Amino acid sequence: MPKLTERQKIIANIIKNVHSKKWECVIDGCTNPAINSHLLQQNGILDNVSVDGHLIEYKPTDPFTWKEDSLPFEKKRIGKKNAFSLPLFCNNHDSSIFKEVETHPIDLEQYRVQLLLSYRVICAEIRKKQVNVEQFSRLLNAETLKGDRGRENLRLVKEGNELGIKDLEKYKILFEEELINESSRFTFKIYKYPFLDIYGSAVFSPLDYLKTDAYQSEPLNGVFIHVIPYNDFTNIIVGYCNNYTDDWIVKYIDSWNNLEEEDFEKKLTQLFAAHIENWGMSPDLLKEIKKDNLQRLEEYMAKNANNLSQHQKVNFNLFEYDEE
Ligand SMILES: [Zn+2]
Repeated sequence: MPKLTERQKIIANIIKNVHSKKWECVIDGCTNPAINSHLLQQNGILDNVSVDGHLIEYKPTDPFTWKEDSLPFEKKRIGKKNAFSLPLFCNNHDSSIFKEVETHPIDLEQYRVQLLLSYRVICAEIRKKQVNVEQFSRLLNAETLKGDRGRENLRLVKEGNELGIKDLEKYKILFEEELINESSRFTFKIYKYPFLDIYGSAVFSPLDYLKTDAYQSEPLNGVFIHVIPYNDFTNIIVGYCNNYTDDWIVKYIDSWNNLEEEDFEKKLTQLFAAHIENWGMSPDLLKEIKKDNLQRLEEYMAKNANNLSQHQKVNFNLFEYDEE
């Protein structure tokens, strides 16, 4: 293990403590402890791509193994129980709210199923940002780090996360209302493609930096997207809230329609590299991916971690393989 400076050790300890912090359920007014909630069901969906009960995901690099040249994230082989999950809901809410998306068979064409998957991902994004804010606050408050040059930047990133939480909470309320009283406030489409050993579930805001004011009072327009390996297909569910959409989003949703296999693979590559963090793949697929494509993916992700632009172009196919 590389030797860390005193300063790095302090930071690594703060990060470790934040990640072992116990969180409450994200449902308003519920103070029960959050359990590890999966973004997609373990048995029935993640099962379809796991190998010996394991999956591959990108996770932030362990701060105790930092090196000057290391990427901010690393590939990890994760047991199914801990894969694609984070502390979101208490046991009660986790099982009562999501019954319809935790059963098997699951009807992915159903509006309510699509709503629930997207609602869960909004809650996950809120929690991820809360973890970030907690971490940044502790770093900013640490006496020993008070002289650091990066503080102003850290303060701005923390503020950005706090604004993000406010946006997401507006979405969360809309979902909660819609789940009680369905009134078609959201639009979803579903597309089926040949089976690939991948999965994903996320929301992203495709920004046009020339037009977007980050401090606007309305929530940013968002795309909900779920990549679900189920019933021998890769199912793409993609949608938006009718109040918060624009031409780009409407076109984007239709652009998943009727793709040739190679274009589908390139579109997935673009999604994973440029737009979302919550995705993973099977250990078997990882073995098949070409080394230089994996390197391209990781370099792109490292460079563009904070890039929300809708104009990003990723020009390779992560899933191409050599014909034999
Ligand atoms: Zn609860």
